[in-house]
Amino acid sequence: MKSKVYFTAIKDNADVTAVSDKLRTLLQSSKVLDFIGKDQKVAAKIHFGEEGSTGFVDPRYARIICGAITARGATAFLADANTLYKGRRTNARDHIALAHDHGFTPQATCVEIAVPDDTVKENTADVVINKKFVATAKIARLFADADALVAITHFKGHMITGFGGALKNLGMGCATREGKLMQHNDVTPVFYEDKCIGCGECEKICPVGAVRVTDGKCALSKETCIGCGSCVGVCPAMALFVDLTAGDACQFKMVEYAYAALRGKERRSGFINFAVRINQECDCWGGENPRIAPDIGILASRDPVSIDKASMDLVNRACGKDIFREVHPEQNGMKQLEYAQELGLGSLEYELIEV
Ligand code: SF4
Ligand code: SF4
Repeated sequence: MKSKVYFTAIKDNADVTAVSDKLRTLLQSSKVLDFIGKDQKVAAKIHFGEEGSTGFVDPRYARIICGAITARGATAFLADANTLYKGRRTNARDHIALAHDHGFTPQATCVEIAVPDDTVKENTADVVINKKFVATAKIARLFADADALVAITHFKGHMITGFGGALKNLGMGCATREGKLMQHNDVTPVFYEDKCIGCGECEKICPVGAVRVTDGKCALSKETCIGCGSCVGVCPAMALFVDLTAGDACQFKMVEYAYAALRGKERRSGFINFAVRINQECDCWGGENPRIAPDIGILASRDPVSIDKASMDLVNRACGKDIFREVHPEQNGMKQLEYAQELGLGSLEYELIEV
């Protein structure tokens, strides 16, 4: 059966007032938040943006969405979980400070900003799913314990999963660091020894001591590496690079994690994708990240598979080609969508309703 995906088009580089008006109309016309009931505690899952990145949803739009949730008598909070790689989103304190720097403050958004400290055991929920790759998913408890979930997603490309949409925001985004490690443990970087200039940047950033520089050359221990990708981001010589052949395994695990994040909330979840500022790489990428498409618009749906498929189709249509395969030829993002449909998370068939 086709799922409904609501869409409002946005002109390239439209101003905040114009986008805000479009967003309000979309939320009203689509009724996509109508499942939210009085007194429910609603987790609005968002990415607060990596340091140096502009690829995240503007806090003013998050405020509008949270306002629509609280107008239904519910309580909303904006939340994310910590990252595996080293940076300002690795622990709760720094992560919240960075969210504030990016404009996600309780004053600006009118809701609480929450990032759990996942060094505290009680902040992890073990969600038993017994799927092909993941038996027990490690989900940040604030998502598992919420009555309802609204994923606010910035849609973009991704070097391991082809593209990043609602499924990635849920699967990777709601996982604790331990859960993210589970999804990344096939993606140890590839080391090109001839390119290494022995600068030691990788050694400084590696959280587990898997890279050591001796006699001007780096050595990588595959046994110790946890696949966090930190070294790839700092290597100035491209001597360390993501193992692009590991993409399929990562996508399948990510989808199983999305399944876990939505467990028990299948009827109490909604999805909003912002297909604007569409960059080549994910929002965790702090460095140069070229735009690959014009701004498209905002989508809303109750189906995470349909909304990601529709987002991908709209972007590709605007580009006149499969831009995601062009910039990441090793990855096929359709695999995450097909597997998500197989798991019953949603449908690849959708009806696009323009508002
Ligand atoms: S070697 Fe592995 S664990 Fe260390 S920074 Fe690189 S990807 Fe992360
Ligand atoms: S960061 Fe790159 S160039 Fe520098 S030592 Fe590590 S592998 Fe070599």
